[in-house]
Amino acid sequence: MSDQTIAFDWQAADAAHHLHPFSDHKSLHEGRVRIITGGDGVWLTDDQGRRVLDAMAGLWCVAAGYGREELVEASAAQMRALPFYNTFFKTSTRPVIALAERLAAMAPGDLNHAFFACSGSEAVDTALRMARTYWITRGKPAKRIVIGREYGYHGSTTLGAAAGGMKDMHRQGAALPDFAHIMPPYWYGRGSQMDPAEFGVHAARALEAKIAELGADNIAAFIGEPIQGAGGVIIPPATYWPEIQRICRENDILLIADEVICGFGRTGRMFGCETFGIQPDMMTLAKAITSGYAPLSAVMVGDRVAEVLINETGEFYHGFTYSGHPVSCAVALANLDIIEREDLAARAAASGEILRERLHAALDDLPIVGEIRGVGLIGAIELTADRRTRRPFEKTGRVGTICRDHCFANDLVMRAVRDTMVFAPPLIIGEAEIDDMVARARRAITATMDEVRGEMAV
Ligand SMILES: *Cc1c(COP(=O)(O)O)cnc(C)c1O
Repeated sequence: MSDQTIAFDWQAADAAHHLHPFSDHKSLHEGRVRIITGGDGVWLTDDQGRRVLDAMAGLWCVAAGYGREELVEASAAQMRALPFYNTFFKTSTRPVIALAERLAAMAPGDLNHAFFACSGSEAVDTALRMARTYWITRGKPAKRIVIGREYGYHGSTTLGAAAGGMKDMHRQGAALPDFAHIMPPYWYGRGSQMDPAEFGVHAARALEAKIAELGADNIAAFIGEPIQGAGGVIIPPATYWPEIQRICRENDILLIADEVICGFGRTGRMFGCETFGIQPDMMTLAKAITSGYAPLSAVMVGDRVAEVLINETGEFYHGFTYSGHPVSCAVALANLDIIEREDLAARAAASGEILRERLHAALDDLPIVGEIRGVGLIGAIELTADRRTRRPFEKTGRVGTICRDHCFANDLVMRAVRDTMVFAPPLIIGEAEIDDMVARARRAITATMDEVRGEMAV
């Protein structure tokens, strides 16, 4: 870069002109926006030349790690051949056809049909529109209500935010009629009086109660993430999902698995619904589908719904200019080659075991650590004011933010959800890097504990 570029005040320009997603701009620009300039493997580089261990894989997406030349090549080759063509006008392109066929083969059960969009939010929006269209076509237009969960995250279009359970989003214009929510299967936070198996069934039965209240004839679908990611990596007990599936089937309600985070190996199997032993009617995919190298999402649709949409609905009035964008699809195909060739799902399972073992060894003696949990390479560390009673800190989110800042100071990216630290590193993370991540996490959590010790029991 030229001297002129270096002298440019990037932070000031960012503050003056850039509106960030999910940010409080005043507090954002009181500090210094960190500018990321490069990436390699699990490492980021910032404009100060510091190397940062990215234990969030970007935003849960960079499964294959940064700096994968073959994804760059796939993108460049497709751009040269055909940078764009749409799939509206009785036309298709080879990358989108190849990807649809490949996803159909990979996806569990009869999820044999793919509809493409650019983001997880759009995939969720599409799935919900499809669910309602399915019931309208079948002569049951009253079946409109979508049931989600508190702390659920289904993206930030208005439909996705309404289906999700984030109250702050609802308050800012995203509460819609015909959406309802049930409790999350959050054992640490809500179920401490029961054993996990019992609590899993209890949390699932909240769906049965909600159906009884609203009437199955008015309900289109239940949507849930196999593991709730943005809501704090809430991992349901093994009893939860089979019970949810039973209730959906008995009441003729479509089951939508939002696999935007869980999909493509994160949980140690290719898809989260395989980890939890369920067969959804639809599945939304995004994030790791391209390892974040290009924007892409998909809705996988099971035969039962697809046959109605294909044979009876007529035109489905929905789609995006970039549905099936050929460059994104080419990147996805190359990325799936990596995921399969390097067996990243099995690697996530094995690395996840190592990571949890090292976290326990490093953190169990810190009274601020209430629980360490994880499946594959997604996990969480609960911070608590009193480990025995699980008492949370006053003013939810404050201590989590303190800890996140200490992570930052230790060149480690972990995210705070309320007072829970969450992580989802690239699936290619190696053992030495796991040790490095754990050492940095210990320094950050110890510093946090020193800062808030006065508020803690003992
Ligand atoms: C990130 C996420 C979304 C939204 O995806 P975007 O690409 O940000 O629109 C939807 N569902 C889940 C489970 C997610 O984690």
